[in-house]
Amino acid sequence: MKCHECGEKIHPEESSYAEVTTKKGKPVWADVCHDCYYDIVSTCQLCGADDVMPSDVSRFILVKHELGRTADRPPGIYEIVRYPFLSIPLVGSGSMGASDVLFIDRLPKPDLHYDISGHICNECAKPYRKIRRAAYGRKKMDRGWNRTEWALQWQDEFKAGVHCLRCGRLCRPGTPDPKARAIRQASSGFCPNCMITKFLLSIEPIRDLIEGTPARGPRLAIPGKGPEILFGPEGVHVKKQVAVILTHTQMRESEIDWIEVVGNWGLPWPKGREPGNF
Ligand SMILES: [Zn+2]
Ligand SMILES: [Zn+2]
Ligand SMILES: [Zn+2]
Repeated sequence: MKCHECGEKIHPEESSYAEVTTKKGKPVWADVCHDCYYDIVSTCQLCGADDVMPSDVSRFILVKHELGRTADRPPGIYEIVRYPFLSIPLVGSGSMGASDVLFIDRLPKPDLHYDISGHICNECAKPYRKIRRAAYGRKKMDRGWNRTEWALQWQDEFKAGVHCLRCGRLCRPGTPDPKARAIRQASSGFCPNCMITKFLLSIEPIRDLIEGTPARGPRLAIPGKGPEILFGPEGVHVKKQVAVILTHTQMRESEIDWIEVVGNWGLPWPKGREPGNF
């Protein structure tokens, strides 16, 4: 028995059956050696299946913070709209082309939960196909787009409030009451979770409690207690204050996912939209 790929002789018990090519869109399977088998299959970064055949690899990818940063994009699930979407230098890690991928949704779990950025199998991609159609329609994005057009498209989407500028979550923020000044100013372009994060960071005692304060003159630096305090007794107090303020807005407290607020606390803010810019 010979490996279909490299031609190496293999014992039948050492052979694996794998999809080696496609003919008229149909996968063709053959016996291959172990080495070639691992070259052919991919791992789905969502369900962990490590034997995903080429025709079962979807056009959707999981992008962790590290890779997203190379294209100024938040972590999330993206659709590949143009290949190659990655450029991999001889030294160092790859970078993503900002106009070669389309943002679909935030990651289902916090970034830390996932080992690496990578492929998603067709089965796991099903819900993202629906989101893609809901957010962008059926329009193919891979023809006739240049980088400028792409950037304009993104700006429009951000203006329309489709995606949160910070965490990338799909959102359509309601119009906050003009009387609630801080919330109104925190809202544009951000999802309720990031809006509240921005708002909390604008209240100095809360900000200092969570993030600490640097040494200033004779005063020593005070380490922050971290956003996890929002889950504790101090958090109960903070949430009460937030609830009172929200009664003046169209946003409901139930729209805030405090786990997301804490989990995303360390995410960077888009340039010029940092919490200090009130
Ligand atoms: Zn082989
Ligand atoms: Zn999967
Ligand atoms: Zn957000």
